[in-house]
Amino acid sequence: VALCGQMGVDYKVKSYKGTGSLRMHKVSSRMAKLIGEKIRDGQDVRFTIISKLADPDSYGAERVVLKNAGFDDLTLDEAARAGAALVERGGFHYAVTPNPEFLLEARTNAAFRQTLLDADLVLADGIGVIYSAKILGRPLKGKVTGIDFAQRLLRWMAAQGKRLFLLGAKPGVAELAAAHLKDAYPGLIVCGTHDGYFTQDAPVVEDIRACAADVCFVCLGAPKQELWMAKNGPETGCSLMVGLGGALDVFAGVVERAPEAYQKLGLEWLHR
Ligand code: UDP
Repeated sequence: VALCGQMGVDYKVKSYKGTGSLRMHKVSSRMAKLIGEKIRDGQDVRFTIISKLADPDSYGAERVVLKNAGFDDLTLDEAARAGAALVERGGFHYAVTPNPEFLLEARTNAAFRQTLLDADLVLADGIGVIYSAKILGRPLKGKVTGIDFAQRLLRWMAAQGKRLFLLGAKPGVAELAAAHLKDAYPGLIVCGTHDGYFTQDAPVVEDIRACAADVCFVCLGAPKQELWMAKNGPETGCSLMVGLGGALDVFAGVVERAPEAYQKLGLEWLHR
């Protein structure tokens, strides 16, 4: 899709041609940097945009850029709709849920930093991120934890008959999580599971592909899961991968989620 870009918003740009058929008001220098080319302000450019963020028909979130990562400014409802839109759209997409520990890691780990920046959906998982955004003068609508996002997406997937693959955690945990999720979301198809302690990527990629999964929850802990999704995701045939850390342990009941009172206060980390 060739689309007209919007100023001040981050896009993932695949290619561009210097034709005059699509006019942008001004080409931001940030966008020029993204595609690694020098473009004059005001020059007519045709972009091929592969990020959903740029698609006015899907969701028009602004990506708020903090020091080492950008966050999509979405409420939980909007994030869930965005996730569903990514599943429906062709091609591979991945979502990340950075918390302050991610940002610390991203300071020194350039590959991880880039993987976060390249994500199709970036959710602010933690009150620390919300506070940082506020302090930096770019407040976000609110925290969207990975678990809350996953639950909303699962509800939608169950209603739509979409296929879920669970990857990660110790042997047996993903199977237990699958059983609990199928009870909690009648109609949900869990098409496959795999533990997170494997040495070769290829058999796991093949497994996901063979199951014809639409969505895969990748729970290997950060930064491993983000790097894994970005590297292997496109080969799996999945439409959406979501990096969810310890979510399978929570779904399996191996680890309890913090009580709601802690969650509301943004103190889930304190409970742990
Ligand atoms: N994990 C995994 N493979 C690994 C390392 C971790 O599957 O090589 C799993 C681990 O069993 C746990 C999940 O990743 O279920 C999250 O780990 P951790 O609590 O360290 O990450 P966080 O939730 O803090 O991102």
